[in-house]
Amino acid sequence: MRNQGIGSWPARRARKTPGRVAVVHEGRRVTYRELHERVLRLAHALRDLGVRRGDRIAYLGPNHPSFLETLFAAGALGAVFVPLNTRLAVPELAFNLTDSGAGVLVHAPSESAAALDVRHRVPLDDYERLISRAGDEPIDEPVSPGDPCMIMYTSGTTGRPKGAVLSHANITWNSVNVLVDIDVLTDEATLVVAPLFHTAGLNMTCLPTVLKGGRVVLLGAFDPGRVLELIETERITQMFGVPTMFDAMAAHPRWAGTDLSSLRTLNCGGAPVPLRTIETYLERGLAFSQGYGMTEASPGVLYLPAEQAVAKAGSAGVPHFFTDARVVRQDGRDTAPGEEGEILVQGPNVMTGYWGAQPIAPGEWLRTGDVARLDEDGYAYIVDRIKDMFVSGGENVYPAEVEQAILEHPAVAECAVIGVPDAVWGEVGRAVVVLRPGAGDIADDILDFLRGRLAKYKIPKSVIRAETLPRTPSGKIVKSALRDSPAAPASGA
Ligand code: ATP
Ligand code: MG
Repeated sequence: MRNQGIGSWPARRARKTPGRVAVVHEGRRVTYRELHERVLRLAHALRDLGVRRGDRIAYLGPNHPSFLETLFAAGALGAVFVPLNTRLAVPELAFNLTDSGAGVLVHAPSESAAALDVRHRVPLDDYERLISRAGDEPIDEPVSPGDPCMIMYTSGTTGRPKGAVLSHANITWNSVNVLVDIDVLTDEATLVVAPLFHTAGLNMTCLPTVLKGGRVVLLGAFDPGRVLELIETERITQMFGVPTMFDAMAAHPRWAGTDLSSLRTLNCGGAPVPLRTIETYLERGLAFSQGYGMTEASPGVLYLPAEQAVAKAGSAGVPHFFTDARVVRQDGRDTAPGEEGEILVQGPNVMTGYWGAQPIAPGEWLRTGDVARLDEDGYAYIVDRIKDMFVSGGENVYPAEVEQAILEHPAVAECAVIGVPDAVWGEVGRAVVVLRPGAGDIADDILDFLRGRLAKYKIPKSVIRAETLPRTPSGKIVKSALRDSPAAPASGA
């Protein structure tokens, strides 16, 4: 085959394991042979719309087989796939569409999709008809590993989302890292409940499973009861999620009665797993592997296998097999063990560059904007984002550490800490908390709670109560919005 990109994966799988089930969705099962045929027809349909190599094709919709088919069909034509986040507002979606220059939008029915202005639309209502009418002659567009495969937008936690250009090689090497480190097997049954438009749902779980010939079980929206049901009926072996998903499953009435014996790998990312979640799952004989990554790294950077979850609690692990990471001081020199610095990443999974910007030069380290430290064994501990750090009385304060301590208070549901100007100390901490229902005025109580747990300079000087915290569509707290908003009446010390 002249196509060495991921657009050739369905054809290569159909050659090797045509009869194995590739995708399961709402009871419908598609084999690799069928997947290859459907992708080929879709590629013809897209070509008939005028799509050529290098063109961008956007997708807007929840987890559905058409998402993967569009990704592979774009790859078959040498076109570039642009997944869009369904939680974005129309102007944000319009920015991503215009910025990427996508001329085709494949979309599920939604008000947002209807409001977008795009040259060609492929609504999912029309999708099956389009595929059944299209041609099925072989397509073997030459695609090199270094060609762009997708433009994936970052979460936009620190500003406007940036389009990371990921090549076929980037995606492939990330999958190889996963196969080496997470032990994906041919009989894998992977539940994909994290959104496919995020790098973790697509690149960490779904694509490595397809590469290995396993079965991907897609769920359109997270529903803890439905997840537990699918684990049992589909004999799920692997699942990726964020801590809140795993907590919701353990709190569901079905939890105790569900047979979880098929599960081999529970992978948790995006944030450290709380100890009580780890304990709840250990009672059922299940341990979490954890990781650290970013859209720009396709996304896996660090990985902590389940066997080390307890011995190295709090760590995000060591770099994936083919990836390298360093922690450096401001002067660019490597830190000593225990010393904090910025984490830098290099490897074949690191993007070619941001869309519309200068590509990353060979040998250049990607600056992550995250602060980390390494222990004596080289295990990394992610401390916080550089942008969120503030300096109080000459001491660096990392809000993530303070937030974790505040979240241990039983009345606190959510919390964010920011630095605010102070005449004496330069900056001091301010905690913004969302309390659990029924909690009274506990600002002083929270500050008392922190004394003895944290050094004095880390303890916020004020606590503000909020109904909600400003979050990105992926659920991350937008600190800049908190810093910009005028302080509500403060209480506390
Ligand atoms: P933007 O780059 O647009 O501001 P973002 O950085 O949130 O948004 P993503 O690529 O989705 O966009 O997220 C990557 C970031 O998530 C990392 O740089 C890091 O700050 C955070 N992160 C990822 N994994 C972990 C982890 N295990 N522990 C702590 N933070 C993590
Ligand atoms: Mg980022």
